[in-house]
Amino acid sequence: MANQKLKVGFVGWRGMVGSVLLDRMRSEGDFDQFETVFFSTSQAGLEAPGESCEKTLWDAYDFEALKKMDIVLTCQGGDYTKKIHSDLRGNGWKGIWLDAASTLRMQENSCLVLDPLNKGLIKDEIHKGTVDFVGANCTVSLLLMALTGPLKAGLIDWVTTHTYQAASGAGAKNMKELLKQMGYLYNEGGKKELIEDSRSDILKLDELVNLDLQGKTQYPKELFGAPLAGSLIPWIDSPMENGQTREEWKAMVEANKILGLNQDENIAIDGTCVRIGAMRSHSQALTIKLKDGLDLKSFEELTANAHEWVDFVPNTKEATLEKLHPAHYSGTLKIGVGRLRPMNLGKEFVNVFTVGDQLLWGAAEPLRRFLRLYQEVTV
Ligand code: NAP
Repeated sequence: MANQKLKVGFVGWRGMVGSVLLDRMRSEGDFDQFETVFFSTSQAGLEAPGESCEKTLWDAYDFEALKKMDIVLTCQGGDYTKKIHSDLRGNGWKGIWLDAASTLRMQENSCLVLDPLNKGLIKDEIHKGTVDFVGANCTVSLLLMALTGPLKAGLIDWVTTHTYQAASGAGAKNMKELLKQMGYLYNEGGKKELIEDSRSDILKLDELVNLDLQGKTQYPKELFGAPLAGSLIPWIDSPMENGQTREEWKAMVEANKILGLNQDENIAIDGTCVRIGAMRSHSQALTIKLKDGLDLKSFEELTANAHEWVDFVPNTKEATLEKLHPAHYSGTLKIGVGRLRPMNLGKEFVNVFTVGDQLLWGAAEPLRRFLRLYQEVTV
């Protein structure tokens, strides 16, 4: 394979994760390193992006076309993976399947990619001949990126994480629905006049907003199924038998798989996943149980110096308001880590709040970096 460029087929590049991935690959000059073909499930035959080696989009359901790729990178979603992956393998294709969706994450022969945490494991899997590589759940990747230092030092017994997840976690169409909800709350039903009149009755305004939120108007909520702007939704993904949502279930199983921990070494992780009206970037409030008593200074140093992407925020009101929120970290690769303090629960407990762009480290970045790592290891 010496000096040969790997042929990469992109599926799902038009969606939220795919668009961010392409942006990052452009900024890092990645497209010079690969021969690329762009596929679509809905626009085959239309013009392909400038980076494509082919003028038009290829059909993402065409097995013969997919089989020509060394790597198929898909951000199209789980339905596409379910429909295509096993048949493509059944057709004898032995290339690398690199996926943002959850479908293959917990399969025994797949590897989760988050190289700042598990580069060694990824390399071992490449050498072993593993062919299915998957980006982990966004909150899981962000959690591990925030706690890399204490995790690598083996300090953590268990973690409870309560999440505040942005609308973009549900995809491009849902982001638009959140904005429509915001616009509806402000503009419709005579509220705009009341908001702008400084003498208006606040209870009247609140009553009109409640009519929207309680489904008595045309306030749009088809995609989220519940009000998000002006409210929140403590449910993400499908139900599990034990009462967790699938999003909550992913935290522990995926984190331990990334860390390569076997069952008796597992770190317990659990909490409630909540969708909030942020546009982009997920936040998490963590209660961490340490194996030994907390040494606040050394915990802070380990956390802050773990890698170049941690942005440690001192536990002050000024620093927190300045930085520790989705607005500050959206569009950046930095992971904000702050609100670090001991807890009343006991000497082994520590409180942390963390924020990161779930479309970057939570989705696109580990995939982009896997492409480069795979190329480095094999070409
Ligand atoms: P998405 O924005 O809904 O895009 C998926 C596909 O929908 C696109 O590739 C496009 O495919 C089609 N599409 C239809 N209408 C569109 C429109 N108006 N704008 C853009 N695309 C449109 O999905 P996503 O959020 O990127 O998620 C993709 C996968 O990544 C999912 O499995 C998800 O679970 C996973 N993931 C998402 C996040 C996140 O934060 N969003 C984080 C980690 C993992 P065609 O061009 O073929 O029509």
